[in-house]
Amino acid sequence: MLIAGNWKMNLMPHEGMMLTHELCMGLSDIPSHVDMLICPPFTHLAQCSLIIENNESQLLIGAQNCHASDQGAFTGEISAPMLASMGMDYVILGHSERRILFNESNDVIARKCHAALKAGLIPIVCIGETLEQRNQGIVNQVVQEQLLSILQHEQIVNHIPAHDIVFAYEPVWAIGTGLAASPEQAEDVHAFIRMQLEEKLGDHASMIDVIYGGSVKPENAKEYFLQPNIDGALIGGASLKAESFLAIAAQA
Ligand code: PEP
Repeated sequence: MLIAGNWKMNLMPHEGMMLTHELCMGLSDIPSHVDMLICPPFTHLAQCSLIIENNESQLLIGAQNCHASDQGAFTGEISAPMLASMGMDYVILGHSERRILFNESNDVIARKCHAALKAGLIPIVCIGETLEQRNQGIVNQVVQEQLLSILQHEQIVNHIPAHDIVFAYEPVWAIGTGLAASPEQAEDVHAFIRMQLEEKLGDHASMIDVIYGGSVKPENAKEYFLQPNIDGALIGGASLKAESFLAIAAQA
């Protein structure tokens, strides 16, 4: 089970450091089959990973984005090899906020995913439909398109059997709204994603974590973790406090 926290553009460095410290302390009470991951803003990564290192903690750390190129004239961007050189484990890619607010297409996300895999990072690729698309009855179609842009990408396919990749099903209408998908709604889409993975990757599909994101809280987390195709959660708001993040992880 993977319990991942997406801090987004929240918390000042000292707050992030305090939270990291609290999570390192709390992790000893979390079952060992649960991997806990934090994804702070870029500016906090060095300090937070130092805290993890100093505490000899198993807490994992990753970034929230990277560029598709390894280097070059891309003012303001950060590359996957830069993140890997800092000891990052994961990188979130294609979050709906990046797709919508920063116009990231499936193609851009696939190129970023390739860059991340090449650098040895584990990409968490976010996919999911808008409310409008759900109302139109095209959830599977949207999710399939997003998924296939990764799975049919020539360079990525060659990387996947040897490297880890995680998919996060995050219905856009459930993110930060308090309107979580029901566990059954989420499981339906997760089962569809698993089927697509099996079609493309055969036996390897069962090794890939597919996690749910969208208004997960301590009060509703357990029901998701009981679903056969849900392997964890990507958590925004509730990952900003050690108490709620640890309470979710304790149920995984
Ligand atoms: C997210 O940002 O990926 C997310 C799931 O946010 P929240 O948990 O706040 O809905």
